Amino acid sequence: MEFLVTRSTKTKAAQERELILENPGFGRSFTDHMVIIEFDQAQGWHNAQVLPYGEIKLDPANMALHYGQQIFEGLKAYRHQDGSINAFRPQQNAARFNRSAKRLAMPELPEEVFVQAIKELIKVDSEWVPLDKEKSLYLRPFMFATEVGLGVRPANKYLFMLIASPAGAYFPKGLKPVSVWLSEEYVRAAVGGTGEAKCAGNYAASLIAQAQAATQGCDQVVWLDAQERRWIEEMGGMNLYFVYKTPNGHKLLTPKLTGSLLPGITRDSILTLAKDLGFEVEEGRLSVEDWRKGCESGEIEEVFACGTAAVITPVGEVKSASGGWLVNKNETGSITAKLRENLLAIQTGDAPTRHEWIYELAPKNR
Ligand SMILES: *Cc1c(COP(=O)(O)O)cnc(C)c1O
Repeated sequence: MEFLVTRSTKTKAAQERELILENPGFGRSFTDHMVIIEFDQAQGWHNAQVLPYGEIKLDPANMALHYGQQIFEGLKAYRHQDGSINAFRPQQNAARFNRSAKRLAMPELPEEVFVQAIKELIKVDSEWVPLDKEKSLYLRPFMFATEVGLGVRPANKYLFMLIASPAGAYFPKGLKPVSVWLSEEYVRAAVGGTGEAKCAGNYAASLIAQAQAATQGCDQVVWLDAQERRWIEEMGGMNLYFVYKTPNGHKLLTPKLTGSLLPGITRDSILTLAKDLGFEVEEGRLSVEDWRKGCESGEIEEVFACGTAAVITPVGEVKSASGGWLVNKNETGSITAKLRENLLAIQTGDAPTRHEWIYELAPKNR
C-alpha cells in the first residue's frame, strides 16, 4: 500500500525528546507522527497516511461513540545493540487484530498493511525508540467505526490508526510481586461474548472490578469464569501461569483458551520458551480451591502474569471475599525470574532465538 507522508513541522526538539525518554513512564507521551488508513464499503482500505500526531475531528453521531465498535493491539519496538529496531512477533498482533475485527463485525486489514504501517511510522519516528534496553517504544494500532448515524448495525466506514508512546522499565525498582483480588461479583467475559477480542468494551466492563480490587488493597483483579465463578481465567489485562513442583522438576500450567480468555502472544511465547528451557507445560483448568490448596501444600511454588506491557509479573498474594493466602511467601520465584530474563533477552536482541520471533522494522544504519 502507498502511504502519503506529511512530515511534522513541529517535531519535539532533540533535547526535549531525550528528557522524555529518560523517564517515559507508560502511555504518557506520544511521538511526532501517527498513521491513519480509511475504510469504506466502496473503496475498501484507502488513503493511507503518515501525519503529524494530533487531534482528530469526530461527528457527535459517530457510531463508535454510541455502539462501541473499537478494537486495538499493543506491541513494542526495541532498539537492539546493533542499532536496528525490531518488533516481537508483530504478525501475531496483525492476525489477532483481524480476529478481533471479525468478532466486532468490522473489516479486516491485510496483515502486511498492519506491519507496513508500523514500519512507516518507525521510519519517521525512529529516534523515539529508546537506546536503553529495559525501555521500548510501545505501539498502539487501533480501529473504530466512523460512519455517522444512530441505526444499530455494523458501520460501513472505519478508521485504522497507529500511535506510538515511549515506555520505561515496567519495574524501575526491580520485580515486586503484585497482590490480586478474586472478582466473584463481576466477570470480564463469557464464552460467546467478546473475551477473545481485544476491544475497548472489555476494558470498560473491567474497570469497576479493578476499582473494587484497589478498595481491597490489591494491585490487580483476577477474573473467574462467568458460569461457575470457579475457574481461573486472567489477571487484569494479562494471562496467568502457575508453576508446579513435580517429581521430575517443574510444570507450568496456564488456563486453556476457552473462548472467554484473551489469547496473549506473551502467553503463547512462554508455552514455547518454557519447553525450550526444559519445563513441562500444560494448558488446563485450575479452580480457586486448587490454587489455594496448591499454595498451602507447596505444590504450587510460583504464580506469574504475562503480557506485552510488563512482560512477566510475579503474583505474591491472593485475596477474596472468603479470605486470602500468599504465593511463594510473597517473593519473586526463581523460575518466574528466569523466564522473564530469557524472554526479555530475546525481545531486546541480547539472546538469539531459533524461533522466527524477531521482525526487523528498521535496519541498523538508520
Ligand atoms: C492484551 C491482553 C493480554 C496479553 O496479550 P499479549 O499479546 O501477551 O500482550 C491478556 N489479557 C487481556 C485481557 C489483554 O487485553
